[in-house]
Amino acid sequence: MCAFRYERTEVPEETKDERMETFGEILHSYSKEEAVLEAQRCLQCAMPYCVQACPINQDARWYIGLIAQQKFDEAAILTLRENPLATVLCKTCYHYCEEDCVMGGKGVPIAIRHLKRAALELGKSDLLYVASAPKKERIAIIGGGPTGLMAAWELGVRGYSVTLYERQPFLGGQVDTIPKYHLPEGDLETDLARFRGLDVTFRTGQRAGEGLTPEGLLEEGYLAVLVAIGASDPRALGIPGEHLPGVFPALPFLLGLNKGPEGTVLFGRTNRKIVVLGGGDVALDAARSLERLAADGGSVTLVYRRSRANMPAGEEEVGGGEYEGVHFLYNRAPVEIVGKGHVEGVVLQATQPGPPDSAGRPTLVSVPGSETTFPCDTIIVAAGEIADVRGLPKELDLNLSAHPWPEGPKGDGMTDVDGVFAAGGKSVVYAMAAGTRAAISIDAYVAKKRGRAPTPGPDPFGGPTPPTLPSGYGGPTWHL
Ligand SMILES: Cc1cc2nc3c(=O)[nH]c(=O)nc-3n(C[C@H](O)[C@H](O)[C@H](O)COP(=O)(O)OP(=O)(O)OC[C@H]3O[C@@H](n4cnc5c(N)ncnc54)[C@H](O)[C@@H]3O)c2cc1C
Ligand code: SF4
Repeated sequence: MCAFRYERTEVPEETKDERMETFGEILHSYSKEEAVLEAQRCLQCAMPYCVQACPINQDARWYIGLIAQQKFDEAAILTLRENPLATVLCKTCYHYCEEDCVMGGKGVPIAIRHLKRAALELGKSDLLYVASAPKKERIAIIGGGPTGLMAAWELGVRGYSVTLYERQPFLGGQVDTIPKYHLPEGDLETDLARFRGLDVTFRTGQRAGEGLTPEGLLEEGYLAVLVAIGASDPRALGIPGEHLPGVFPALPFLLGLNKGPEGTVLFGRTNRKIVVLGGGDVALDAARSLERLAADGGSVTLVYRRSRANMPAGEEEVGGGEYEGVHFLYNRAPVEIVGKGHVEGVVLQATQPGPPDSAGRPTLVSVPGSETTFPCDTIIVAAGEIADVRGLPKELDLNLSAHPWPEGPKGDGMTDVDGVFAAGGKSVVYAMAAGTRAAISIDAYVAKKRGRAPTPGPDPFGGPTPPTLPSGYGGPTWHL
């Protein structure tokens, strides 16, 4: 194995022109030869920082080592043994593992996320999970995003009978809003097809809060309930003019692009002058999607109140937006949306950094008298998300001051109602980690009630050996 090759085996990418043609995937797969070459760069560290940085502690060394030996089928099994949403993650994960890979110190980190994709695409990955000894004990989950799905899998492989209630007609949660150029249609379904061997029932189109409450589910005989409803309702900006026709929240727009006619019917190929307000990944997803829809004469400008360096969106997104032609206007905050019966512009005020806040982040100071009107006919608002807790009982104490998503205030994720847990996460893999922790807490809670020991995590493919943590592993670095 070549120990020190600092350059990454190039990941094949679409050119700008190809990207603008369609919503086709930007990144293309490695060939077998490319995957093996990249995998052989991995040092197989005894102290694997990549594993420690991964919220679900997936041991990338295992599947990377197998790819290096051209054992793609074995690599696929090992990937899926720890990671039931691997097809989604290998396209969407913010790859915290790569940030901490030791190769990043002197060169480019191993392309761990892309090698996970190689394992699944080049190995046999149409496998089926099986439950360990069925328990005939029922658990209910509310919310079909990554938190709920991961918890369903963890409980399902431990032999529980799980019913998952989801308000939308489809599963996935915010994953359904990720543009197709990152996550092609059908990838989540590929992962969920492996759940068929588990006693997990998905009941879509069922909103909790009206008639269906966590307490009601306990009364129906479920031994515990997990509230995993995330935070996927758009947050308003709170400025005058926000309700004018021509102003759209980003999340329903992105969801409509993927799941319904709304997004494309609203915009089609468009020569609109569009402003996107926000600086996070959601704003970038909206701006980059709109850039793909823009016809000649159309334009997309993203306005953010801080500088580029302070943008919450990742470099991959911001750099991608720049490359694709999105215009960026920094250090401007929207103060009013104006127009007679329809959006005609947004009033922007200049901002500059003030003294640091308690977290050390510069505060924002607006510059009086600096207001200018930026003309536009469409505004997309990406000002953050809030949870839809309408109808859920206040007694749960969903700890919404800590995160936008509900989370049990106690260490084990339990809410103030006995047997009701709540969890969520800031990205797909963090949400999955939260789902795992909630499932382990639920199993411990049920086991204690029944006077037995908690169920150890089994091999989800029915083998004799459960997955173990890697040697040298120093404990999770869950920075939630
Ligand atoms: C546009 C966009 C792009 C993103 N891109 C990425 C990315 O590239 N990589 C990444 O790692 N993360 C990304 N994220 C973040 C990631 O998708 C979320 O962190 C993750 O989905 C959170 O998972 P969750 O299960 O906790 O919540 P959610 O995904 O929000 O799932 C919660 C589910 O609960 C359902 N629900 C809500 N209320 C009720 C109710 N009362 N009754 C029944 N069901 C209910 C919702 O419909 C939803 O399906 C993105 C988010 C957005 C919005
Ligand atoms: S830190 Fe990087 S080099 Fe080390 S095992 Fe992980 S992927 Fe390989």
